[in-house]
Amino acid sequence: MVLAQLGGSISRAIQQMSNATIIDEKVLNECLNEITRALLQSDIQFKLVRDMQTNIKKIVNLEDLAAGHNKRKIIQQAIFNELCKILDPGKPAFTPKKGKTSVVMFVGLQGSGKTTTCTKYAYYHQKKGWKPALVCADTFRAGAFDQLKQNATKAKIPFYGSYMESDPVKIAVEGVERFKKENCDLIIVDTSGRHKQEAALFEEMRQVSEATKPDLVIFVMDSSIGQAAFDQAQAFKQSVAVGAVIVTKMDGHAKGGGALSAVAATKSPVIFIGTGEHMDEFEVFDVKPFVSRLLG
Ligand code: GDP
Repeated sequence: MVLAQLGGSISRAIQQMSNATIIDEKVLNECLNEITRALLQSDIQFKLVRDMQTNIKKIVNLEDLAAGHNKRKIIQQAIFNELCKILDPGKPAFTPKKGKTSVVMFVGLQGSGKTTTCTKYAYYHQKKGWKPALVCADTFRAGAFDQLKQNATKAKIPFYGSYMESDPVKIAVEGVERFKKENCDLIIVDTSGRHKQEAALFEEMRQVSEATKPDLVIFVMDSSIGQAAFDQAQAFKQSVAVGAVIVTKMDGHAKGGGALSAVAATKSPVIFIGTGEHMDEFEVFDVKPFVSRLLG
């Protein structure tokens, strides 16, 4: 279920409940079950949805509803608060400071949009007067360096990589050192992705992280991976210190639930979302407006 439909389904469920003459436990349960179904279809993890349902039941007081308070508002507010709670891990992500060198490492599965997102992130900051630089530590995928080079050239962002060197750790360290000397304030390290969660990928990622000591590790996740989001995000978090999440491909047929699962699994906030293939199709992620839009 795409985001816009989720809001519609939830509103309809609440409307149906509001129309009932008497709101008893049965009517409230029916409404919550309807909402649960909508959330599950949006790929929000089952456990999150179940916890949310329990919490809403605790918050929504049947007596208040019976006393003629605005039922729709009470339930809508409870759902809004619960969704915000899931998306806010309570600890903000490390924020690089302009003019001070920060190393940011990107991790994620192949095809998640990692390389594209590295450039978007660099370009976003460059437009605000930063001096970003891109390092391609992906020696696994043929063409990875060419892709990064092409993107970086288009955006006029300095880049570092190698066609010959096969050791990603060596390239990452060299690139970071070079751009530190050149006083770049945002050094972005793109690492290799694989098709699935493989031990070798995690080991390589861990080594690159150990060698470059990033200030922030960003986990890039394709929003269309559905219910697999939680496990995938958790697997990355267990190998490197993921501190933030970027959810890509939120345009088109994107489902929103994966974002909630990724936050829950990594205990890290979503900081940006990707909304298209172009460099400027990239938005700062803000919990409350996102949830408002989600609920329509
Ligand atoms: P990587 O293997 O993780 O580095 O993934 P890439 O950066 O090569 O991206 C894989 C594909 O997803 C490319 O065709 C990108 O253009 C596309 N892509 C990346 N981000 C987005 C996005 O936010 N929206 C859409 N529609 N496509 C995206």
